[in-house]
Amino acid sequence: MKVYLKRGRESSVKRFHQWIFSGAIKQVDGNVCDGDIVEIYSAEREFLGRGHWQSGSIAVRILTFDDEQIDRQFFINRISDAHRLRAKAGLTNSLDTSAYRLVHGEGDSLSGLVVDLYGDTAVMQAHSPGMWRQREAIAEALQEVCKPVKCVYNKSSGTLQGTDFAVRDGVLAGDANFPLLVCENGNLFEINPEQGQKTGFFIDQRENRRLLQGYARGASVLNLFCYTGGFSVYALRGEARQIVSVDSSAKAIEAANRNMKLNFGASAPTGALADAFTFLKNTDEKYNLIILDPPAFAKHHSAVGNALQAYKRLNAKAMEKLSSGGVLFTFSCSQAVSEQQFVETVFSAAAISGSEIKILHHLHQPADHPINIYHPEGNYLKGLAVYKT
Ligand code: SAH
Repeated sequence: MKVYLKRGRESSVKRFHQWIFSGAIKQVDGNVCDGDIVEIYSAEREFLGRGHWQSGSIAVRILTFDDEQIDRQFFINRISDAHRLRAKAGLTNSLDTSAYRLVHGEGDSLSGLVVDLYGDTAVMQAHSPGMWRQREAIAEALQEVCKPVKCVYNKSSGTLQGTDFAVRDGVLAGDANFPLLVCENGNLFEINPEQGQKTGFFIDQRENRRLLQGYARGASVLNLFCYTGGFSVYALRGEARQIVSVDSSAKAIEAANRNMKLNFGASAPTGALADAFTFLKNTDEKYNLIILDPPAFAKHHSAVGNALQAYKRLNAKAMEKLSSGGVLFTFSCSQAVSEQQFVETVFSAAAISGSEIKILHHLHQPADHPINIYHPEGNYLKGLAVYKT
């Protein structure tokens, strides 16, 4: 199947951008279906690459700019490249970390595919119909490239909602044995890909959690939007005096409690089931260390304005509850919110709350969530660690 672009619209493809928007397309030869592999041509009929077709604003997700087939061997090659990058980052043979992201979509030139590795279980998430349709080839490639992989689990029902495919989660290869037990920087976490959010764990905060540990000694800690308790476990490892973990999901709080117990025994502090905004409004206490890691407030560019307002309110409230000499770790995982917008928002929050704030660290996603330089949209996790004087 061939897709022809409008005149002049090949320039972004020649700059290796991996998305083709529907407005750039002049003509499609044949009856194209969601997930079909298409060849891309300029108006001058120059071959530009191959990718997956999908209906919607992003019409093609380009997988190669070369004349190669998108088949089992293609996935073996790409996943091998991804594996080599993780080896370079020290993750494939680590003694104290067994959870990492093996495939990060465009960052690994596999637009539409995410694979998280939890020990010998690979959890795959298709974000495009094309990746869903090629799941068998992907599962085979994962087993071939990563020899420890014994099970491949597909968790795509949430990401492919609204498509014409009857997507169900389930095992693609091997036997699933959930929950899984993984190690992150020496801390234990129980992960349930079947029931958890995303693939079951937020791997992207690994390095920020470790940084936080160094600020925890003797602190009273408030971990808002705690999910499975990642930051709380590190805070206690760092000898925090007191930890309050808050999430509005009962399952998340149960998981956080289990993880705290797993690492520190039955007397470990338990979390509170609450809305983070309400909790902040109602608490009279001040904390030495606060973590704000909310879900993406802006899923699309159209929602950025409202999202920035929400981030501002939340950060201003948190700064009010931060004691003098305290540290706030604050994040946005909205792809549509730029780093500059986020910093400006935290700045406004400081002004509203009348706090004198200093930036200690600019925080990001780790190396197993690489950003393709031609795809700046991949820079989704932004954070700041700030100090209140
Ligand atoms: N910091 C976590 C990841 C946070 S994910 C980690 O390190 O693993 C975002 C979490 O926010 C989810 O667990 C979700 O249940 C929770 N959440 C969403 N809206 C909320 C709200 N209004 N109040 C409290 N928690 C909320």
